[in-house]
Parts: sequence; C-alpha cells; structure tokens
Amino acid sequence: MKKLNFGAGPCILPQSVFEESAKAVLDFNGDGLSILEISHRSKSFEAVIDEARQLLLELMGLSDSEYVALFLHGGASLQFAMIPYNFLRSKAAYVDTGVWSQKAISEAQTIAAVEVLASSKESGYRIIPPIPPISAEFDYLHLTTNNTIYGTQFHQFPEVAPIPLIADMSSDIFSTPRDYSKFDLIYAGAQKNIGPAGTTIVVIKRSLLESTNSVNRFKILDYAQHVKADSMLNTPTVFSIYASLLNLRWLKSNTLEAIYAANDEKASLLYKTIDLFDWIKPFADPSSRSIMNVTFTIDNSDHAALFDHYCNKYDIHGLKGHRLVGGYRASLYNALSIESVKRLTDTFEEVNKHV
Ligand SMILES: *Cc1c(COP(=O)(O)O)cnc(C)c1O
Repeated sequence: MKKLNFGAGPCILPQSVFEESAKAVLDFNGDGLSILEISHRSKSFEAVIDEARQLLLELMGLSDSEYVALFLHGGASLQFAMIPYNFLRSKAAYVDTGVWSQKAISEAQTIAAVEVLASSKESGYRIIPPIPPISAEFDYLHLTTNNTIYGTQFHQFPEVAPIPLIADMSSDIFSTPRDYSKFDLIYAGAQKNIGPAGTTIVVIKRSLLESTNSVNRFKILDYAQHVKADSMLNTPTVFSIYASLLNLRWLKSNTLEAIYAANDEKASLLYKTIDLFDWIKPFADPSSRSIMNVTFTIDNSDHAALFDHYCNKYDIHGLKGHRLVGGYRASLYNALSIESVKRLTDTFEEVNKHV
C-alpha cells in the first residue's frame, strides 16, 4: 500500500506524473527508446525542454520577450553562488529568515559585501521580519519566500524597484498565484513542487542579464552563457526535466487558483487542529505561517511516542522535523490530497483520546 508522504523534499508528486514517467522509462513517446537513453539533442527531447520552459513562463504569467526560463543543475544551492557571481559588484541586501537564506548570504560574502536588511534570527526564525525601506546603493535584494525548515512564508513582498528583487522559491513555487513580474530572478530546486530532484529552475528578467558581471571566469556559472545555449550548455537532467514537464502540465490543467484553494483548505484544516490541542505546540508565529510546511513540537516524549505509534499505524510518513530544529513538520505540497491531511488530523484526534 502506498504511504501518505508528508516529506519535505524530495516529496510527493501527482500519481499521474509517477505513472507517465514510469511509462517513459520503458518507451518514451512510442519512439522505441527509454527517456533514460535518448539524446538530449534529439527532436523528442528538444520538444520536452521547449514546452517545459514555455510552461514555466506561462504559469508565472510572464512573457518570453521579457523573461527567460532555464533548467540548470546543482540545486538551489548552486544558485546561492551563481547569483552573487553574476550580479554582485559592490553590495547586496539579503533578508535572513533561516538556514537557506544564511547559506545564500555566506556564498555572497565570498564575492563582495552583504548587508542583512532584516532578520528573524532573534525569534528563532518563527516569523517573517518586517523589511525596512531599501536604499538605491544595493545591487539586488535577495529573499527566501518560504522557509521550509521553520514553516514560515512571506505573504506579501516589499516594493524595491528599481533594485532587482531575487527570490529563492524552492518550497512554495506554484503553490499560489503570485505577481511574478515583481521579481527579476526566481529560482527553485525542482524537488519540492516541480518534479524529481536533479534540475533547478531559474527564471530571469532579460534586463537583469544585461548587468551580468563582465569578469565572469567560469562559463558554466554564467547565466548569459546558459541563455545563449538555450539551457543546453552541457547535458541537461533529461529525466528530471521530463517529469517536471508532466507536473507543469498537471499544474496548468488544474490552474494555480484551484491549486491555491486546495492548499489553503489543507493548511487551514491542519492549523486548526494543531491549535486545538494543548499538547501540540505550533512553531511558526501565526502571522507568518506557511501553507506548505506546517511545523510543530509535542509537549513530552510520551505524547510524542503515542503520536509516532499512530502515524506508523496509519501509514503516515515523512513527518520528522529538520535535523536542525527537531520536532515535526508536515509538508503539504501541491500533490498532497485533502484526504491525506484528514487522515493526519484524525490521527491527532485519536492520540488526543489517549493523552
Ligand atoms: C530545499 C531548499 C534548498 C536547497 O535546495 P537544493 O536543491 O538541495 O540545493 C534551498 N532553499 C530552500 C528554500 C529549500 O527549501
């Protein structure tokens, strides 16, 4: 029996994506070849990556005269380095909302100066901090839209134009309709709402590309080179991109509005339940709660053992919190059904009878 997967990433994808990917592993497109063996230069794969790049822009409501979409390697973590490598000349501003933004900050600091414009470190990253007005001296502002480890999420974004706004959207991309045109560069490791691990999506405003550092030494780290090579500067992650395409089609046919409505319903139900019982301690501040990752602890080890027992019994998988913060985390990515969340809330009710 298939387990209910609340894992934070890699994570659940739509069942149809699993099934269609499995078919393509045996025979892609009826070509008589596996998706795992076709050339990335074949007509069949060119059609895949072209459609996937197009769908990324379409789902974001962006035009390809203004923006360009890439599928790169190296995860969101490589973007932590590529962004300053390409765009940091004297000073960049970063918002510190936890581990992932800190990693981005420390990579940028190896290139030039970084100012942490706002941080929620003092609260243990339970909240999204207010962002003060930004002065025109910065090369860009970087923020992390959803903090996977802590379960916090930006619900509105600062106006910083003309300063370029750059965002790590790894764990909440396409979870909600968003004004993507506010951003100059958006990136996300695929493995949390796009597809299997392996590829990373990067969407860049063409006007930002014009300001790429001209001293870039490594071609492989240069966005302009990736754009020029149509996202095929080297062999792309063929399978991961194909499976991502299947998911992007699924997103398009569902619409982001409907996806958001379902996500909102799932998150509301779960938060309502964890607020109900005093042996469950929600982690994130209510003002900053994420609709993707719901974090909580349990007041004592007996209650935790009871909860673990029932999760096991009901095939609920992937709830262990990040090793840095402990506790529990239920990730409610797009493909997770409301029925799965109901099974989790029923489990809380059941545990509550025994505490
Ligand atoms: C998971 C995650 C990352 C790391 O992604 P990799 O693809 O493993 O490098 C970065 N940022 C956020 C917000 C994440 O959730």
